[in-house]
Amino acid sequence: MSEQNARLRADVCVIGGGPGGLMLGLQLARRGHRVVVVEQSARYKRHFRGESVSPDSVRLLHRLGLMDTIAARGDFARTTRFEISDGGAPALRVDFRDISPDGSLPTEIPQQVLLEVLAEEAARHPGFTLLRRSSVIDLLSSADGRITGARCTGADGPLDIHADLTVGADGRFSSVLELSGLPFSKRPLGRDVLWFKVPLPDAWDDDTVRVRIDRDRHALMLPTHPRSLRVGLNIPKGGLKQVRAQGLAALHGQITAFAPELGPAVRTHLTRWSDLSLLDIFTTSVPRWSRPGLVLIGDAAHTLSPILGQGVNHALMDALALAPLVSRALAAPDRHRQLTAAVTRFQKLREPAVERTRRTQSAQERAFGLASAPAVRVRQQAYRLVDSQPWLKHWLWRRIYYPLRLA
Ligand SMILES: Cc1cc2nc3c(=O)[nH]c(=O)nc-3n(C[C@H](O)[C@H](O)[C@H](O)COP(=O)(O)OP(=O)(O)OC[C@H]3O[C@@H](n4cnc5c(N)ncnc54)[C@H](O)[C@@H]3O)c2cc1C
Repeated sequence: MSEQNARLRADVCVIGGGPGGLMLGLQLARRGHRVVVVEQSARYKRHFRGESVSPDSVRLLHRLGLMDTIAARGDFARTTRFEISDGGAPALRVDFRDISPDGSLPTEIPQQVLLEVLAEEAARHPGFTLLRRSSVIDLLSSADGRITGARCTGADGPLDIHADLTVGADGRFSSVLELSGLPFSKRPLGRDVLWFKVPLPDAWDDDTVRVRIDRDRHALMLPTHPRSLRVGLNIPKGGLKQVRAQGLAALHGQITAFAPELGPAVRTHLTRWSDLSLLDIFTTSVPRWSRPGLVLIGDAAHTLSPILGQGVNHALMDALALAPLVSRALAAPDRHRQLTAAVTRFQKLREPAVERTRRTQSAQERAFGLASAPAVRVRQQAYRLVDSQPWLKHWLWRRIYYPLRLA
């Protein structure tokens, strides 16, 4: 069958045109390499996907000149403050302007905009090809077990892409991870999240992220562009069926218990179940991100919890760390051996930062899950203690949002 398939040759074949895959494609094409990015969807339009971009990534997007393009389109919203209320009372407030080393702030960039800008920029380089409406169905390998490319189905039928390096950037349900034979484990977390968007209430400013906690339930409220609010309501794991059985009016009641200001907006704009998206929360651990000829990046290598909005950040950081290593290896006479060394080095470079995020998220997940009255009191006291010590608060927040040291 493969003899009949169309064939394409590239230095690098990237599966998945999300933030990680497109940034990697752009960085490699900029360096003069031939890259094919295979993306299953026909359009960039995505609802409820990584809109909060962490300030370190915003700083890098600035350096690459991409933030200017995004800003020129006007499609973004900056966050200056983060507020946690617990049990109806303010518990912790952070102003990012007090901790940012260079004025950069967390920024809400609709993912469609980010992906369009990355793809348009990449398309300026002759070595870059984006194949849309194409899905990977298998990996190609040589007799010695090295991955040599990917078999895809696409608009024009089956296609075999032969490449020195194949990159799995296909997200939290990665087929490449499944096909690679690399061991991995998935850990479901104790809750799911329902996401929806409503207009921002008039009384609310458009640059404060609000987290409201009530015992073991919480809601995240993130102002985004254009003047709207992205809301994530936590529900018990697998609890959507029960939420639906109770009806939309009951859901409106749950939301307004956290934020009475949202009452009119949810009654007007949350009128069908299709207005909601379910995020099934799990994390994935992949002990080895690579094997000869193949490497995983972004969610495919390390699906994280949505807490603190770090998924896009790590996908972009992965791409930016991997590109120069791969570029140098491709220029070497023994490129396959050098590529194997490069992808091993890539994991060594990136894994500590990913693990730091995972630990912080786990601690926060545990705190969110506390239900008994004494445990909730301890959590509230802990938030207030941190809030009362600016040096501690700033140190903790810098570790999460500004770990990158830029020259
Ligand atoms: C509801 C929700 C809200 C989120 N909010 C935030 C947030 O505010 N901030 C944040 O930082 N992160 C957020 N995340 C996480 C964030 O979206 C991801 O961490 C980030 O997009 C990972 O980037 P990626 O490039 O690794 O993968 P993805 O963005 O998932 O991209 C993978 C791409 O691969 C394509 N693909 C999949 N399978 C195949 C296949 N077989 N063949 C070809 N293509 C394929 C997909 O269509 C997709 O375009 C959110 C996630 C969800 C689900």
